Formats: sequence, C-alpha cells, structure tokens
Amino acid sequence: MRLTNIKLWDGVSEALSEFHSIEIKDGKITSIGNEEKFDASSQASSSQDMAGLYVIPGLIDAHVHMCLDPEAKDPLAHVKVGREKQLDLMAKRAVKMLDAGITTARDLGGGKWEELNLRNKINAGELSGVRLLCSGQPVTSVKGHCHFWGGEAANLEEAAKVIERQISRGVDLIKIMATGGNITPGSKPIDAQFDSETMAAMVKIAHEHKLLVAAHCHGTAGIKNASFAGVNTIEHCSWVGSDGWGKNLNEEVLSEIVGKGIWISPTINSGWRKFMGSQSFETLIQGNYQKMRKAGVKLIASTDAGIPNVRHEDLPKALPIFAHFAELSPVEVLRTATSDCAEALGLGRQRGRLSPGYDADLVCYENNPLQDLSALENPIAVMAKGKWHRLV
Ligand SMILES: [Zn+2]
Repeated sequence: MRLTNIKLWDGVSEALSEFHSIEIKDGKITSIGNEEKFDASSQASSSQDMAGLYVIPGLIDAHVHMCLDPEAKDPLAHVKVGREKQLDLMAKRAVKMLDAGITTARDLGGGKWEELNLRNKINAGELSGVRLLCSGQPVTSVKGHCHFWGGEAANLEEAAKVIERQISRGVDLIKIMATGGNITPGSKPIDAQFDSETMAAMVKIAHEHKLLVAAHCHGTAGIKNASFAGVNTIEHCSWVGSDGWGKNLNEEVLSEIVGKGIWISPTINSGWRKFMGSQSFETLIQGNYQKMRKAGVKLIASTDAGIPNVRHEDLPKALPIFAHFAELSPVEVLRTATSDCAEALGLGRQRGRLSPGYDADLVCYENNPLQDLSALENPIAVMAKGKWHRLV
C-alpha cells in the first residue's frame, strides 16, 4: 500500500519533512520519499491519495490502567466487576484509544492480568485496539499503594516472589510502587515504601530478566531510592516532601536521574487544565520543569488514564496541557508521545517514528499539529500495524 499526497512529520525532526509518500507492506513502513522517487514497477499493491493530510506517528501513552473505570466514583469498583464484563469494558477502552490516535500504551497495573489477555488478543489480531505493554501486579508494601492488586511484599524475598509471579504470567516490564499514592486509603504519597537496598535488589532481578522497571514515585525520598536503584522510568515524579506537594525537588537526586538516563513520566493529563491560571501551583510546577529540563532530564508523555475522570483516550487532550506545564514546544511535546516514548519503553527501533523498518502506526489530521496541538483532538484516520482503523 502506498499513501501519497501527505505532509509528514517523522516523529523526530524539527519540522514537517519534504517527503510525501509512504509505502507499507506487512504492517511495516518499507520506504518513504517523494512521489517521483517511486517508480512504476513499485511493489505497492494499491495507492491512496491522502489529499494533503498531516501524518504523524501513532501516539504512545506511557502510563495507563486498562482495568480502571474513569467514570467510577469508587476507584476500587473494578475489583467487583465480573470477568466477562471487565474484559468487554477493557476491549472497548482499547478501541477508543485507537480512535483517538493512540496506537501503543503501557499498562502500569492491574490485579488479575486481564490486560495481558487483552494485549494478547490485540497482538493476535483477534481484537482491534491499542497495542499494550503490561506490568501486571505492581510490587508494593504491605497495605501499600494499590495493595488490592495483589502485589504486596513485606521484604525482598516476598518482592522477588511477586516479580517472579509477574514474569510467569508474561509481563513486558515490572512496576514498583516506590512511594504511597492518592487512591489507596491509608497510603501517603510522601512516604517511601521500600528502602534503597530493597529497591536496588528488585531492579536487579527485573533487569536480569531483561525487563525494564517503572517506579511510581510521588515523594522525594522514594524518587531518590528509585533513581539510585536505576529504574528506567519514574512515574509522576511529584517531588513531595516536608514542604508540601512539588516543593522538595532535590538537585542531587535530579543529577542522579540525568546521569543514569532515567526517563520521567509526569502523568500530566487533561484534568490539569484546572490548575492553569492558579498562579502559585502553575509557577511551582513550571519552576520544577525548568530546573529538570535545565539539568537535562528526558520526558515522556503519560496520563495515568483510568484514574477518576481521566479517560483512556485522554492523551491528545493532555499533550497541550503537558506542554504548558513543562513549557515544551509542540514538536518537543510530540516527541515525548512518539519517538522518545518508544525509546523509553524499549520500542525505539520499532515504533514512534515514520521511517523504513518501523511499524506502520500513523495518524492523519486535517490541521498541522506542529503548529497547533489542538489538531490532535480531531484525527481523520488511524493506521495500526499497517491496517486502517478508521478512514473517514
Ligand atoms: Zn498509575
């Protein structure tokens, strides 16, 4: 299949490229170039005139929870939903994500590995939907953040068992709750849940199994433990300490994060719109991102979709808000949701770019998202692994 007459952003470059044709075969991009470069003997079985649409790589959300219902008032409601019903709800969420232009997402926690089941069905082509990487049950402390998912560990020995259990289920990565969180009664975001030795030992086990590690971190103490342990992504990174939310950014920890090349996944979703214009909070958060970016941190886009009021298809709406708080240009924030995100997730050679050899995951828009990010809210068509999901 050949797509012609497109304006292409490859996921990396500063600007739209001069190339305006993509050739796709067996789910992969085989070549990219100017139309005249494709000769008549080309193998492309069909050619589609895309009428000048803007085409970018499929979006990637680094932090979602397929099992959570964002409309539920009780964040634990999903635990009581029957298996059949739950799988149906999750499959519908996966389709909505694809509708929104999200072609890959990383699921960072569920209790019953149902999201792995969904992942497998989508990968096998039995269901249409966003392609998933899944962590299964996050490792947490006794009665710690999201303990209801079954990953409680009182010590390293138990933590190792939790990790082994996830591996036996076929997870793509390991998630560790390095601090408490908001949705678990009795758990405090400021508190570290594991000491630095235990964190380091857990990360070592995961890495020995060639699995990356994502660490949930609100408090600075937990961010420190996670970064010294060498996790791969720090989720939230809220810098919570004795001075309050966002007020304890630590320069030593920051330089450890930068030195180790750890990615920060801030989970700034569209709900953060309500903080825009609230001067003290906005200034605080923007100040933190200025410090982090000056130090050289690498950022990826994430929403924590599934938590109350954050829908699974939130990412296109979230990116302008993320850009506002982190003071990123449109192209910078788009990289955090394409090429950079793919790299952070260990998919840097397969996804997140429009380039020969990469998966043919792409989204088409009428307006130029590099000029105005609001264009992302209206995708015209989405292709996942070379198959059109939606073509108006
Ligand atoms: Zn989460």
